[in-house]
Amino acid sequence: MKIVRTVSEWRLWCEEARRAKQSIGLVPTMGALHAGHLALVQAAQSENDVVVLTIFVNPTQFTNQEDLEKYPRPEEADCAAAEAAGVDLLVIPTVKEVWPVFPPPVTYQAGPLGDRFEGADRPGHFTGVAQVVRRLFEITGECRAYFGEKDYQQVAVVREMVRTLDLDAEVKTIPTVRAEDGLALSSRNIRLSPAGRVRALAFSTALREYSAGGAAVIEAAARHTLEVAGVEVSYAAVVDNQSLQRVSPDYVGPARLLLAGVVDGVRLLDNGPVVVGSEDAVSN
Ligand code: AMP
Repeated sequence: MKIVRTVSEWRLWCEEARRAKQSIGLVPTMGALHAGHLALVQAAQSENDVVVLTIFVNPTQFTNQEDLEKYPRPEEADCAAAEAAGVDLLVIPTVKEVWPVFPPPVTYQAGPLGDRFEGADRPGHFTGVAQVVRRLFEITGECRAYFGEKDYQQVAVVREMVRTLDLDAEVKTIPTVRAEDGLALSSRNIRLSPAGRVRALAFSTALREYSAGGAAVIEAAARHTLEVAGVEVSYAAVVDNQSLQRVSPDYVGPARLLLAGVVDGVRLLDNGPVVVGSEDAVSN
């Protein structure tokens, strides 16, 4: 595995791979690698000749300075995990490499899709995400790029940007990877206390045992499950799979339940499929 820290080496490596007719699978991350990230690497390996993994804690998508500072950065362990997973190129650039001018100019606004839910609670977050993903695509060049459904709204924003700007990247997704007890893996989980980790299980419980009924019933029940466990709920919303608009009160059919809340001062997200209006209380 080659490790590079400069944009010029990264760009050159990708150009050479393409010249050798090798397809590139790009896996963008912020590091503190866990099995969710490694599942993205696996998906990328299955569909491409080479895999580029980036680790970059992008300051422009953080709306909370403390969250940025506290973000875990276990570089040695990450290098070992990437190597063991069979990554071909590991990119660990500095902020100065990615953003020679800081703050960088905003050339694409995430728009209404990025203003809801996570975007409402963290204004500007998705514009920062779109900004860095566009930059990663621009440096890497033509590629397939892999994202987790764990960050459902992020995938929607990235897909919309690729479509709007006609970028040379094919967006691929994988399902959320969970711990055995159901908790969605996240780099932020290590900041949870043992009791907080137990409280956090309410997210996967709410998705697994979602209530039968209309959207409002499902939302209220999920919120209740989270609140009873001691989660400070940010939102529990039943949305259209593509537009991420809240479904109408009389909607019946498949949708996505988006959940977010704070445990131990740590912001946690989860989401899963639901069937609205179904008489069955059982889901995925
Ligand atoms: P992050 O390092 O948290 O920015 O995540 C990098 C990528 O890994 C994003 O596409 C995430 O959606 C994805 N990811 C994070 N956690 C998981 C998980 N538990 N399962 C699947 N993908 C994940």
